[in-house]
Amino acid sequence: MLDMQHETFLRFDGGRTKAFTLSYDDGVTADKRLLKILDSYGVKCTFNLNSGVFPDRGLHNRLGEQESFNTFADCQHELALHGHRHLYLTKVSAVQVAQEIVANREYLEQRYNRLVCGMAYAYGATDDSICDMLRSLGVTYARTTQSTGSFDIPADFLRWNPTCHHTDKQLMELARRFTDTSPTDERKARESYLFYVWGHSYEFDDNNNWHVITDLLDAVAGRSDVWYATNGEICNYVTAFRRLQWGVADQLVYNPTCRTLWVERDKKLYRIDPNATVHFDI
Ligand SMILES: [Zn+2]
Repeated sequence: MLDMQHETFLRFDGGRTKAFTLSYDDGVTADKRLLKILDSYGVKCTFNLNSGVFPDRGLHNRLGEQESFNTFADCQHELALHGHRHLYLTKVSAVQVAQEIVANREYLEQRYNRLVCGMAYAYGATDDSICDMLRSLGVTYARTTQSTGSFDIPADFLRWNPTCHHTDKQLMELARRFTDTSPTDERKARESYLFYVWGHSYEFDDNNNWHVITDLLDAVAGRSDVWYATNGEICNYVTAFRRLQWGVADQLVYNPTCRTLWVERDKKLYRIDPNATVHFDI
């Protein structure tokens, strides 16, 4: 007889129940101030950059090409795609979509000497054929602009809906819920929490409200139960977790990936090393 009573839940790196990530777009001068703030709080962000739009001090004070490089080359955060020219992908031809992605990847990878395969959609615009294209071009995840108001982990990383924009009226209420409640409170609500906030740093200058980001980080940073990670680190972790191979009776699990993964089963935390098979206690 198969015992189907067991429920298993993803736990993040180190067995943590929560993850927090940020995503900021367009590569603007205010990113310099944002970087200092993020580093002082020890949180991680993904910066989504174009590669064919460098109107020095143009719209929203975008960074010039050399200044952009100087700003991001040595930062400890992730650089991701935002389209070569910031085109509205649902309004251009498939060939142009491909060019937007490939030229953007090629530029960022060569310029910064690192793999760049995450993305945020310009204007949040996407559809099924664009997702297919991104998959073909090796893009591992892409963020939309649709708020979920939740801490759900996305089912499809090419349609990664964030929790909210930083101007969301619920922002600090979400932060309070993220820190003050726990996924372990009841059996049916034990999924891990992923809190994902996005925006543009120039909005803090335009609205003279840098306190929005420092208030948020005062609330959520520096906690031992939270994994502070870039978008790409979270995508890679969850993607590896989804490759775990489970025994039919749910008594054992094999980790075919090259990274340590964590699972909670019947309120007990298990560490699953690369290439290891773990036999559950019951
Ligand atoms: Zn943008």
